[in-house]
Amino acid sequence: MSEATNLCCVKCNSILDRGSFQGLEVDLCPKCGGLWLDRGEITRAAKLPEEELDRLRGLLTGKAGPPPVPTENKAPCPSCPGSLAEVVLGAVHVDYCNKCHGIFLDRGELQPAVEAVRARSRDTGAQDVVIAISTAGD
Ligand SMILES: [Zn+2]
Ligand SMILES: [Zn+2]
Repeated sequence: MSEATNLCCVKCNSILDRGSFQGLEVDLCPKCGGLWLDRGEITRAAKLPEEELDRLRGLLTGKAGPPPVPTENKAPCPSCPGSLAEVVLGAVHVDYCNKCHGIFLDRGELQPAVEAVRARSRDTGAQDVVIAISTAGD
């Protein structure tokens, strides 16, 4: 992994901020409250203690205003030349890159996504996707 320049938000094109949570580095949008997670990071997020998750959620409020517009089906990946497609992750639809296996969570989607990962052994429907996005590296 290189020290990439900051990524751009999939939804509103703002420059994403870096946040660090017990060594987990995530990219979050200060404007719309979106969150970009590289491959495997959702699993690490799901293992954070509640107070760290609270701190992360607190940074994902974004500015007041309308929720971000849903992405077109072929939004470009902020992190690689791939493109994003919607996948079902537990109770929410997230934007998933099938090339680098990153995911973009809209404001409010972190908690359901984390719960889906925590519950993956019970939810066979989401299992394939969860395994794909939560496996670290090849
Ligand atoms: Zn944004
Ligand atoms: Zn990608």
